[in-house]
This record gives sequence, structure tokens and C-alpha cells, in this order.
Amino acid sequence: MIFKLENSVNLRVSLPSKVDVELFVKREDAIHPIISGNKYRKLKYNIEAAKKEGKNTLLTFGGAFSNHIAAVAEVGSVYNLKTIGVIRGEELVSKINDNPTLKHAQDCGMQFKFINRTDFRNKEDLNFIENLKNEFGEFYNIPEGGTNSLAVKGCEEILTEEDSSFDYICAPVGTGGTLAGLINSVKMNQQVLGFSALKGDFLQEDISKFAKQDRWKLITDYHFGGYAKINNELITFINAFKALNNIRLDPIYTGKMLFGIQDMISKSYFPKGSKILVIHTGGLQGIAGMNNRLKQKNLPLIQ
Ligand SMILES: *Cc1c(COP(=O)(O)O)cnc(C)c1O
Repeated sequence: MIFKLENSVNLRVSLPSKVDVELFVKREDAIHPIISGNKYRKLKYNIEAAKKEGKNTLLTFGGAFSNHIAAVAEVGSVYNLKTIGVIRGEELVSKINDNPTLKHAQDCGMQFKFINRTDFRNKEDLNFIENLKNEFGEFYNIPEGGTNSLAVKGCEEILTEEDSSFDYICAPVGTGGTLAGLINSVKMNQQVLGFSALKGDFLQEDISKFAKQDRWKLITDYHFGGYAKINNELITFINAFKALNNIRLDPIYTGKMLFGIQDMISKSYFPKGSKILVIHTGGLQGIAGMNNRLKQKNLPLIQ
């Protein structure tokens, strides 16, 4: 059983620059090497629901290096469920062996359907879903990124009683499901900060759909130009953080968040002495794919 380990440890960490706050990282990344962090939380009650409904196939959507695709594929192999990944980008069909995420998903038994970007955008149309059912038979449909109300429910279990002494809870945001779970489970004295990995304002609304209170804020200054965009400064920071704390950060979510936190500390955003808990949502499986890209561009690699 993988859905068992529930509480991950908080570790005190330092940052490359000097700080006047207390900073801890909740090691959700240590839950599982592939079904890591928030993906574990988001899938937990969905797998339960799929079983209850008697469905033995999971179908979901994602991009080339998706942590969610990796997690669903791995869950399928652990639980003996068939998995289908609808992948953005027809060109990827011939590149599976060069893509560590897709290769691992395939090794787990995931079956792929590659579609172009336009079709991918319209993937929630009833017609499109009907066609998928004709092609693959009945399945349990998990949305892209895994966010639905059961995913939010799972993420409401990230924080424990012990965490109630923290003033701030920080987490990265992709679809906002994880943040909503945190928002719904904090105490009255706690603020939630979400660090957007994407450019754009639509996330505010997406999070509000699931959030039950309003002591939270979306920080939009640290996406580095957009989803999965990176630069040398970010890589240098991620590697310095690893050298200091022996904790790896991923370049798409947690690296950008901690970079942002360091910057906000330097600008005195947090009152001196604040206790900050940073959720390490995992995503480390994506580093190999990113390093392949960095190697091609002759850039320094993520350690
Ligand atoms: C998917 C993912 C996120 C984003 O989670 P949402 O619930 O979609 O906001 C954050 N961090 C990591 C490492 C992820 O894989």
C-alpha cells in the first residue's frame, strides 16, 4: 500500500543569503520518488473513488514532463489499474525514449494518446470525452494536473496539528488544488502564500472556487517568464540551496517558490522572526528531463 505514510517531517533550512525569519521545509517530496508530494495527496481519494465506482482504468492529461502523468502511471502499476495518458504534442510520439518522464510512464504500463495543442485545449468537451470512451472503454477521468474536489480533500491532510505554530504556509501553484487544500486546513492565525508557476491572473479565480476562507495570497512575481521557463540565476539558486541543505528543488515549482521567498525576505515582506513553513511538493522526477534540455543548450545542470 502506498497511500499510507501520512505525515512528513519539517526540516529547518537556510538560504544562500542571510535571513531574519525561521524557515522550515515540509518534506512531502520524500513520500515517494515518483508519486511525490502533492500528487500523492491529490490522487489518494481519487483512487478510492475509482475503486468504489468499479473502474479499473484511469485516464488523465498532461504535458511532456508532467509530474502528474508520472504519478498516475506509477499509481497504476502499484494498484494494478490500467492507465491512459493523453499527452499534449503530437511530435512526442517519436520521442518517448528521449523523454525520461514518458519513458518511465510507459515502463509502468501507461498507454499514450498524443494530440495536438488545439485538441488538447478542448479536451474537456463532452464530444472529445465520448470519443475517448469509444476508443478506450469506460475510465475514471482525472483532470490535467489532477485537481478536483477529491484532490483538494487530499491536500487538506498535508498540514498537521504540529504545524499550527507557523505564521505563514507557502506552496507553489500550478492549477491551485494544492493551495486550496492548504487554505482550507490552516488555523485562524495562519496566512497562506501561493507562488504561481504560470504567467497570468486566472489562477486567483481557480483557487477561489475551492477555497473556504480568504487569508491567502497569490504571489505572481516569480514565474521566470512562464511555465517551465528557467534561467541561470534560478539554476544557481537551486544548486546553492542543495549544497546548503542537502534538499533538491525542482526547477518548475519548488525552486521558483524558494527563490521568491528569499527575495521577499530580502525586501522585508515578512515581519522579523516570522515562522514560515514551505511545502516541498516534490516534482524531482522532472529534473532529468530538464537537465537534458540544459545539456543541449550548454547550460549548467541542476545538481
Ligand atoms: C503539480 C505540482 C504543483 C502544482 O500543484 P497544483 O495543485 O496544480 O497547484 C506544485 N509542485 C509540484 C512539484 C507539482 O508537481
